[in-house]
Amino acid sequence: MYDYDLLVVGSANADLVIGVERRPAAGETVLGSDLAVHPGGKGANQAVAAARLGARTALLARVGDDAHGRLLLDTQRAAGVDPVGVLVGGAPTGVALITVDPSGDNSIVVSPGANGRLTPADVRAASGLLQASRVVSAQLEIPLETVVETVRSLAPGSRFVLNPSPPRPLPQEVLDACDPLIVNEHEAKVILAADGAGGTDGVGGEPEDWARALLARGPRSVVVTLGAEGALVASAEEVVRVPSVTVDAVDTTGAGDAFTAALAWKLGAGASPAEAAAYAARVGAAAVTRPGAQESFPTAAEVAAV
Ligand code: ADP
Repeated sequence: MYDYDLLVVGSANADLVIGVERRPAAGETVLGSDLAVHPGGKGANQAVAAARLGARTALLARVGDDAHGRLLLDTQRAAGVDPVGVLVGGAPTGVALITVDPSGDNSIVVSPGANGRLTPADVRAASGLLQASRVVSAQLEIPLETVVETVRSLAPGSRFVLNPSPPRPLPQEVLDACDPLIVNEHEAKVILAADGAGGTDGVGGEPEDWARALLARGPRSVVVTLGAEGALVASAEEVVRVPSVTVDAVDTTGAGDAFTAALAWKLGAGASPAEAAAYAARVGAAAVTRPGAQESFPTAAEVAAV
């Protein structure tokens, strides 16, 4: 009945990475390593992660009419994502300028570029894509009003999944649509602080407490990701911990995006929230064993081997 298992509505960025001995002070120039250019952005990452697992996936995003945009389109196609919803033009492709120092710490400047021009009108124009998608997943690297329009445009019976990153207060109609809302600790704190509750401080120290407090804000279900500790799945019926898989972590970049994509796909395919989260935890664990974001995302066969 649906043409797509998952439609990702979100960002696509070129990540421009330079290694430095130390960061320049104001007015100073330092020399760094060769430039590495990687496809990124949470939307593009989620779409690649899902397609690589075997989900029929589309991406609704906007890139510039430039070399970075072509790189992103090429990597989406190579992973098996249907790029029919990737709009081109209006502003340069979004860019993350990343410097990495010898201790591995990042400093990042993001230029949203075309991501900031993905408008509610673009969502309305893509209504055929939304109607053809069993699950729709979004993040917050695009305008909030575009996420609101996405929620309003869902097909009857389809599922909406949101990773509110970077976090900010959410309109009630977006919170109410989430099934699940997927947050890490930082995102949980920002959303819980939004109505004056003081973040998780006023809620209690355990992720179970944050999950219950988030559920009370309207989502039909909540998933809290806990890094190497795995995840927690909460609905009105139960709150369940899902352990992680023990692996040698090399680079956690993009693990949350891979987890979210896998969870969204499996939920749409009929898995229970605990089953879907257990699978997503395996996908996240596989992703952290390799460097990079999209480059690190596993195939279904690689997940089975974790
Ligand atoms: P985010 O990047 O959004 O903060 P997390 O770091 O919590 O997300 O990672 C998402 C998921 O990836 C986790 O819930 C877990 O299943 C998996 N994961 C992350 N880090 C590790 C790790 N070091 N070992 C095993 N699994 C991990």
